[in-house]
Amino acid sequence: MKLKLAIQKSGRLHDDSMKLLKECGIDISNGVNKLKAEAANFPIELFFLRDDDIPQYVEDGVADIGFVGENVVYEKNKKVDVAYALGFGKCRLSFAVRKEENFSGPQFLAGKRIATSYPVLVQEYLNKNKVKAEIHEISGSVEIAPGIGLADVVCDLVSSGSTLFMNGLKEAETILASQAVLIKRKDFGTEAQSILERLLFRIESVKKAKKNKYVLLNAPNDQLEKIISLLPGMKSPTVLPLASPGWSSVHSVIAESDFWDIIEQLKGAGAEGILVVPIEKMIL
Ligand code: ATP
Ligand code: ZN
Repeated sequence: MKLKLAIQKSGRLHDDSMKLLKECGIDISNGVNKLKAEAANFPIELFFLRDDDIPQYVEDGVADIGFVGENVVYEKNKKVDVAYALGFGKCRLSFAVRKEENFSGPQFLAGKRIATSYPVLVQEYLNKNKVKAEIHEISGSVEIAPGIGLADVVCDLVSSGSTLFMNGLKEAETILASQAVLIKRKDFGTEAQSILERLLFRIESVKKAKKNKYVLLNAPNDQLEKIISLLPGMKSPTVLPLASPGWSSVHSVIAESDFWDIIEQLKGAGAEGILVVPIEKMIL
């Protein structure tokens, strides 16, 4: 059997979805103009769809799994499971108000007209905060609604905030932090599950590799102990003697997050010739 994967046909999630599959060593041969494509070297079949439709297709079992934004998953509220956070397509669903206004809290929204493509999530927020407001559902270009007098407030996806800014708005309150996730349908057979596990194993290796760097450096032997103590390594660092006496070459893996800190400390401890190399895959 083949696992059927639904991804966005075109738009913000398309390229990152295709790139992730490629990094997992999955070759997608035929073009994106079609509705479907097959992998040559992995039991998977792709469906190219509008992102809004992906949860429904997965609920119905037309697709087994899908890559889609959490914002869409929670707005559509279909019977699917979120199986894995993919780490791309990061954005926020936020209220935005006119630049000169001051969002004092949920009560600010009382009686206001809110333009959004996310009526379900906005209503949930209003209910939770016991606020009554009017929701105007618009499917695109929500940020222009206040300017044309259609709404007082918007609730829309934001990443940098520049679209809001260009429309005289500012971000006021985030109601959902979102990223692309892998969703799967509820009744999953054992064969489908074992293909999914193979896919997740690959995705995990790619993600881990991106979060880490391979570091090589030269260390004076009298500082070796100090330098090794600074390096976490997967088990412990590799140490090899250099041709010039009194020096060793040290190899290790450092997490991106504490990278600069560690590099500074290594230099301080006398490390020289520090090389930092990206890692393609990381299997632990
Ligand atoms: P489609 O034609 O598939 O319906 P769309 O216009 O609804 O496309 P895009 O704008 O391509 O969707 O966004 C797809 C997803 O990308 C969003 O649902 C969201 O999860 C994610 N995303 C990431 N950053 C942003 C952003 N700054 N603005 C909008 N969406 C973003
Ligand atoms: Zn869409």
